[in-house]
Amino acid sequence: MTALEIRDITKDYATSRALHPVSIDVERGEFVTILGPSGCGKSTLLRILMGISRPSAGEIHLAGQRIDALPPEARDIAMVFQSYALFPHMSVGKNLAFGLRMKRVAKPERAQRIEHAIDICNLTGLTERMPRQLSGGQQQRVALARAIVMQPSLLLFDEPLSNLDAKLRDTLRHELVELHRRIGATSIYVTHDQSEAMAMSDRIVVMNAGRVVETGTPQQLYRAPKKAFTASFLGQTNLLSVTAEGVRARLPWGETIALDATATGPARVSVRPEAMSVSPNNLGSGVVTSVSFMGANVLYKVAVGDVTLKVAQAGGDALLAPGTHVAIGFQGAAHLLDEREFAGAA
Ligand code: ADP
Repeated sequence: MTALEIRDITKDYATSRALHPVSIDVERGEFVTILGPSGCGKSTLLRILMGISRPSAGEIHLAGQRIDALPPEARDIAMVFQSYALFPHMSVGKNLAFGLRMKRVAKPERAQRIEHAIDICNLTGLTERMPRQLSGGQQQRVALARAIVMQPSLLLFDEPLSNLDAKLRDTLRHELVELHRRIGATSIYVTHDQSEAMAMSDRIVVMNAGRVVETGTPQQLYRAPKKAFTASFLGQTNLLSVTAEGVRARLPWGETIALDATATGPARVSVRPEAMSVSPNNLGSGVVTSVSFMGANVLYKVAVGDVTLKVAQAGGDALLAPGTHVAIGFQGAAHLLDEREFAGAA
């Protein structure tokens, strides 16, 4: 069942358009991430969903009700901010109770909801603490609990982990996924961090320059992106201009590679670094230009004619030195990207 429908929302500022018609459907209980680079319109869309900014056109429906003209407090939405935004002069317990008091939730139910949120957000024993007496991770858990107690129809997350250090971010990322599994709240999570999006989401909406580029599960978008933008934004890839010849394509340096679809003529393919390998070969077409030991694998940059390939090879016992001539191997087929974007970008 569709919980949230964003229909053809646009946003114009005085001299520019921040959102071209954007349409997104979110199913009930789904965790959808909006992923895109800085300036792509994520915050603008979030502000419109919350009701602190009005769209120039379009409609938003939440749980069957049109909400785009309602004030923020009349929308059944709770938000977890990047900056936590806790009330500094209130204890954890009072922070959690505030929204419920405003909504005139009766005291026994208030106490019960707060106790539940404290429990599932790992905040036991911290109810009397003031925000300044908490670590960053604990403050973000309080912000999360404060959103959850409201039992909203929609939970919004605005880059909530980006102020935390890498290890804590990783821990909280797992906690959030587990929490979502338990409470099943319909959630929209906004981030520019592709690894966060891939690890957490049921579906990812990739945005660029005020438009939705593509939508899909993390696996779909990583393995079979339609657009070059998606292929290069989600992880690393090699975008290659080729001449398609049916089920194979000719690479710029003359070798051919299998395609995962049939095409003819100029086309563009995506080949992930881990789908390539290099082996020393004096007659090979490539030359290693740089070597980075990454732990689990080794990342080589390999020049082939005018093209520089990124190749990720497992096992780093005997690193190939820059200058080594190599043969390049391809595992599986190259992924054919959408021709229309190629035509448009050319
Ligand atoms: P993101 O959150 O993805 O970084 P934003 O939604 O903040 O992107 O911005 C989208 C675009 O709208 C950007 O080009 C930004 O410069 C522009 N923009 C945002 N807010 C305003 C504003 N108040 N006035 C004019 N332009 C704005």
